[in-house]
Amino acid sequence: MKITEFDNFGVEELSNEEYARKQDYVVKNCKCPGCPTFVKGDNPAGAYCFPLVGTSQNIHREKDCICETCPVYKEYELTHTFYCTRCSQVCQSYKAEAASGHE
Ligand code: SF4
Ligand code: SF4
Repeated sequence: MKITEFDNFGVEELSNEEYARKQDYVVKNCKCPGCPTFVKGDNPAGAYCFPLVGTSQNIHREKDCICETCPVYKEYELTHTFYCTRCSQVCQSYKAEAASGHE
């Protein structure tokens, strides 16, 4: 199983500049700030689904996740939730694959 198969955002092929532009796009469209789980003033302020944004330093309790209502979620056919606490799309996919024993 190659990591590229989990690359929903297609970042493998991107230059640094294109990568930054795509991340900006995700941040701009992200619904996290309106989510009951979100903690105000968090940094990063959303876009936790994106590969290198990282999990939240301030969110410790999962309430509800509204990622499935997000345009980014639909556009990039994301499949996980609670990116703020559980890690990015690629990270959760990789973990699930490893746990299933089909590496
Ligand atoms: S899918 Fe979730 S984490 Fe990703 S941009 Fe949308 S609301 Fe934010
Ligand atoms: S990743 Fe999901 S649970 Fe976390 S803040 Fe965003 S919408 Fe809410």
